[in-house]
Amino acid sequence: MENIPANKRFHRLCNPMLKSYVWLYFMIFAMAILLLLWVFQYFFLESYYRSMKANNMETAASELKSAINSGDLARTARGIAFKNNLFILITDASLREVFSENTMGSFSYFESDRSDNHNMFAYSMKQDLNSSGQNYITRVHENKMFQTKEMFYVTKVQATDGTERYIFLESSIEPIDSTAQIIKKQLIYITVILLELAFIISLFISRRIAKPITAITASAKKFAEGDFQVQFNGTGYLEVAELSEVLNKARGEVSKVTDLRKDLIANISHDLRTPLTMVKAYAEMIRDLSGDNPVKRKEHIQVIIDESDRLSNLVSSILELSRLESGNLELELEDFDVHEKLHEVMNRYTILMERDGYNIQLELDEDKTCRADTAKIDQVLYNLINNAVNYCGEDKQIIVRQRNQNGKVRIEISDHGKGIPQEQLPVIFDRYYRGDKYKRETVGTGLGLSIVKEILKRHSFSFGVQSTEGKGSTFWFEMNEI
Ligand code: ADP
Repeated sequence: MENIPANKRFHRLCNPMLKSYVWLYFMIFAMAILLLLWVFQYFFLESYYRSMKANNMETAASELKSAINSGDLARTARGIAFKNNLFILITDASLREVFSENTMGSFSYFESDRSDNHNMFAYSMKQDLNSSGQNYITRVHENKMFQTKEMFYVTKVQATDGTERYIFLESSIEPIDSTAQIIKKQLIYITVILLELAFIISLFISRRIAKPITAITASAKKFAEGDFQVQFNGTGYLEVAELSEVLNKARGEVSKVTDLRKDLIANISHDLRTPLTMVKAYAEMIRDLSGDNPVKRKEHIQVIIDESDRLSNLVSSILELSRLESGNLELELEDFDVHEKLHEVMNRYTILMERDGYNIQLELDEDKTCRADTAKIDQVLYNLINNAVNYCGEDKQIIVRQRNQNGKVRIEISDHGKGIPQEQLPVIFDRYYRGDKYKRETVGTGLGLSIVKEILKRHSFSFGVQSTEGKGSTFWFEMNEI
């Protein structure tokens, strides 16, 4: 037996399965149909039959009314009487017969009322009609002798000669007990068949509806347990297909984040450990070997200083990025001139150009004013130019280009280095992505471009990179001019 923990069992109890819901609602629906059938076919059958009879009599009476005034009474009344199996009696105000048509023979109650009872029954109906103030009245009477029920109807009409005519109609009500019995039997069969059918169909439908959801839940469970390879295959209906699409996307994102986290830890530990090892090694070297040799000592102390710088750069980059990503950072926006800003940044590279032979060219367009957090834009420019310096080609040439287009100022930083493989372009701005992992001669932290991305995203500036392997790369971003 499945061993389900108590809290889960409670959960299941409070939230029945989708399958059970669908099944239950379908069964309720089938039962409602059956109930309606029973109520209408069985319980209301008699009253429905009677109201139908009364309606028929009403129609017959109105036909007779017009026949009384058209002078074609005998023929019309006979037709009506035979068609509806009616006893028709038309009298004047003192209940003297004007016309009668008896299709019921000796079964007619009005007939025996006339011969044996001085029209007492007809008289009481006439009285009722006049006192009720209605157009017509009906009565149902049980004939004890023949064990039958009959319906009586009376209405009055003003003849063209101004006299009143009373129309009495009588019709036997067929005993519907036997009909009701047949219907009841049929209903029992219908009920049993319908309930069985409903049970089977609803079971089938509920399984069909629940199946893809159950499958997705099973995959989601695996996913929750850390299986990032799991595929969500929701087919069957649109919502489930969409759900699995979303889940597949979410899985992709989560696995990317997890990979990044793994990379991050690996990178951080590597990047922290290497300079720390170097610092320790050189410090020991000074202690044991070069402490008394000023030249060597200076050289070794310089290595310690460089490695400490590397460490401190890494730590500040991590802090900067987490500050940017936390969303707490407020931008200090101000207007600045593009030419002035680019010249200012270029000045920082004069030593590098003179000392190491780098050739950093500035290609300017017409001067424009933009609005941004200048300190952050400086950081973007430095990061991009530093990268270009680190990854530039043999020619050591870097171009910083300004291009004004469509109300925007586009800044491009190009180099002629080895470029970036096409498949790496989509992830190049991701945190801790590094092209040549753990390559020490390139002095990167793997965080530069993600800092660039966060800053430009916060400004809502578009940015990107174009690169051809072996030819070089161009990183760009666009600021709105004002
Ligand atoms: P890093 O500190 O490693 O340079 P970045 O986030 O600045 O970290 O860059 C991420 C990766 O992108 C780098 O490791 C490098 O592989 C690649 N990259 C960045 N700029 C360039 C460039 N101009 N040319 C070639 N590759 C580049």
